[in-house]
Amino acid sequence: MKAVLFYDHGGPEVLRYEDFPTPEPGPGEVQVRLHSSALNHMDLWVRRGWPGLKLEYPHISGADGAGVISAVGTGVEDLEAGQRVVINANLSCGKCSYCLAGRDNLCRNWHLLGETRRGTLAEYVVVPARNLLPLPEGFGFAEAAAAGLVFHTAWHSLITRGHLRASESVLIVGASGGVNTASIQVAKLAGARVFVVGSSRAKLELAKSLGADVCIDRSQEANWSKEVFLATGRQGVDVVVDNVGAPTMMMSMRAARKGGRILTVGNTGGPELTLDNRYIFGKHLSILGSTMGTIQDFSTVMGLVFEGALRPVIDRIFPLEETASAQQRLEQGEQLGKIILEIPA
Ligand code: ZN
Repeated sequence: MKAVLFYDHGGPEVLRYEDFPTPEPGPGEVQVRLHSSALNHMDLWVRRGWPGLKLEYPHISGADGAGVISAVGTGVEDLEAGQRVVINANLSCGKCSYCLAGRDNLCRNWHLLGETRRGTLAEYVVVPARNLLPLPEGFGFAEAAAAGLVFHTAWHSLITRGHLRASESVLIVGASGGVNTASIQVAKLAGARVFVVGSSRAKLELAKSLGADVCIDRSQEANWSKEVFLATGRQGVDVVVDNVGAPTMMMSMRAARKGGRILTVGNTGGPELTLDNRYIFGKHLSILGSTMGTIQDFSTVMGLVFEGALRPVIDRIFPLEETASAQQRLEQGEQLGKIILEIPA
């Protein structure tokens, strides 16, 4: 098969579009002929590498994907070749106490497809059968690949972990990335009033089109936490979604009301935070971290995507062969929604 792979860490120049042996499904596994994949920041971090990351080279990135089942392993009963499917990138063991309790994203042997296992930037991928969800008739591969990881992550963070309720106020730090565009929609669907801080007019227009109630342009209003404070009658918001991290976390804490929750699923702006602890205890804040979501979250949120209640946002579609250019676009941070790789038949 053709795949985008790399033999060493580095910039986009380390990516090769080459032949690689097609993976075959073992017991309980399914082989998918991919039609669309989507990029995530994780792909950039894995390509660059970090201390302690151990990969089997060559590595293939890519967590998101949708395609057609091309082969099933022994013991797979409810899926068959020819079915159109979307992939849940959370690889869990299915046996540990967390998995058995339905909290499979806390699995003791958890892996993310494309991070520590070969992923979806290829013509074929093999995953456990429980990681596949059939697509409804007519639902596009690109839209399914665009939705998977980000809606799963946003749903788990806001609903399962954050217990967001109707009438609460939510501030989303960042307007245009995949998880943020998903979070805006999930928060609106839950009945929240949604504030968004973005870095440009174009990004905020996208946020507005997805249902954001109050948009703050940080290129005009550097002290955006004060804007949020004033717009909430000097109270702050109930929930802040901060997946930027280092540059924004203190402002996020200022923007939260007393007793508020800070949700984080990542740190596109850097991982090491400097925090003023007085905000945490003085304002009774809760900081709730999570990563990805459970199998139950995936089927719930994708059901809402399939029925049109949540809409995946696609920035641009590149052919798989041009993954290096696609990753450069993600690195520049100018994208509006998800960057898709199309895998030619
Ligand atoms: Zn497990």
